[in-house]
Amino acid sequence: ELHPVRRALISVSDKTGLIELGKALADRGVELLSTGGTARALRDAGLTVKDVSEVTGFPEMMDGRVKTLHPMVHGGLLALRDNDAHVAAMEQHGIGGIDLLVVNLYPFEATVARGAGWDECIENIDIGGPAMIRAAAKNHAFVNVVVDVEDYEKLLGDMDQHDGATCPKFRRKLAQKAYARTAAYDAAVSNWMAGALELEAPRRRAFAGELKQTLRYGENSHQKAAFYTDGSNRPGVATAVQLQGKELSYNNINDTDAAYELVAEFDPAESAAVAIIKHANPCGVARAGTLAEAYQKAFDCDRTSAFGGIVALNRPLDAETAARITEIFTEVVIAPGASDEAKEIFAAKKNLRLLLTEALPDPRQPIVAYKQVAGGMLVQDKDVGYVGMEDLKVVTEKAPTEAQMQDLLFAWKVAKHVKSNAIVYVKDNATVGVGAGQMSRLDSANVAAAKAERMAKELGLPESLAKGCAVASDAFFPFPDGLLEAAAAGGTCVIQPGGSMRDEEVIKAANEAGLAMVFTGMRHFRH
Ligand code: 5GP
Repeated sequence: ELHPVRRALISVSDKTGLIELGKALADRGVELLSTGGTARALRDAGLTVKDVSEVTGFPEMMDGRVKTLHPMVHGGLLALRDNDAHVAAMEQHGIGGIDLLVVNLYPFEATVARGAGWDECIENIDIGGPAMIRAAAKNHAFVNVVVDVEDYEKLLGDMDQHDGATCPKFRRKLAQKAYARTAAYDAAVSNWMAGALELEAPRRRAFAGELKQTLRYGENSHQKAAFYTDGSNRPGVATAVQLQGKELSYNNINDTDAAYELVAEFDPAESAAVAIIKHANPCGVARAGTLAEAYQKAFDCDRTSAFGGIVALNRPLDAETAARITEIFTEVVIAPGASDEAKEIFAAKKNLRLLLTEALPDPRQPIVAYKQVAGGMLVQDKDVGYVGMEDLKVVTEKAPTEAQMQDLLFAWKVAKHVKSNAIVYVKDNATVGVGAGQMSRLDSANVAAAKAERMAKELGLPESLAKGCAVASDAFFPFPDGLLEAAAAGGTCVIQPGGSMRDEEVIKAANEAGLAMVFTGMRHFRH
């Protein structure tokens, strides 16, 4: 419902844009209430303002610690205007409704940033401001809460659109932003205290998450670490129940996450899939009719690297697969369930960690991904990009056969989960060579080829595993060299985004090498 703005309380430390806002509100017939410094600034500009102390009947006291913390203020912010009892209480106590709250807080973060001492920082923790913001945001059905100078214009715009009132959607948005601000403010206070007290910072970090467990150490033994949940309950390593084995380490959690997110790309209703991960990169991925078969194929991609790996399954662990997995040393197995028999087989391997979830992660669920950089944070949508058969464009004289097409799409899904530059060789629904994290695409093609070669020797096969394989490249080939390397290794068809300046040159090279190639139009960088 539209709600008219008749009375505003303005209390701001940062007085940018204050006078303009005050004037604009006064012009629209809004009554202004203010705290000490804010009221003075408005008055100096010739505006009529009522002091909050006049409303509360109390002076601002204790160095400003208590200014607005009073029922005359909080009653005006929190009262439900359509609730008879609330309205009666307002009348009985002479409480006037406050329809607009404009607050920006004591500059706590800036005070810390300029190196102020403990007492000064403490004095810059705003108490009344956040209390009012939270009250107004809770009562957004009737109250507008503005915490950002950037929103002054928007507020006036919404009022002008609605004859001096604002719309509920706008007020909700303001409320959402308000809670983000108070949450960040409290997090800043807690993190500053953690730093000042020399606490183990990663284990005390405040943000919109909950501490799940402190870890023995981080990526290395001299790093402190902890594991937080984000409250989303997304199926995965954070919600998994650990049935047995040692405590998970930081690296275990990171790798298990990579493994499970990868294997979840493959629909369990279509086929069983297994991913074996080392250092967050797959060293073998396969799908087949049964899990045991898929595990064997994934293992045969790179038996050397699979030692001490993390295994993720897209179907509940069965006895046959459990028996195969226990034949070598494995750190962690994660699956959407396990049979009793499988659990029994694992029970004999005390150190092997078994993690079970109720469901697979949804690879298309849009979530936000964070990465820390010095002094900041990068935030982006998680890569949930998906390419289906219908999105592919054949760019060569030869088109892939149906079997090749299957392997290409399989390779593409795997490549999405390999650190860039990623080159993935696939044959018969199993990886046969993975080149990850190299600084040139040519190097990645080389690494994948060398692995396929070595593994063939180990298995006593006459030719490279890559012979006749499908090739995926997570981003375009900038030159033909990487593509030709993949062809020399045994590649017969290629999937890649396309979009290089030299696409024509690359397509020509593909035709000359007798390759079939498709473009996805989408790349999957992963760093
Ligand atoms: P002014 O410059 O108007 O004197 O003070 C504005 C600041 O006071 C704003 O940052 C506002 O959040 C803060 N503030 C308002 N009420 C209270 C209160 O009751 N206690 C404290 N500590 N700060 C308040």
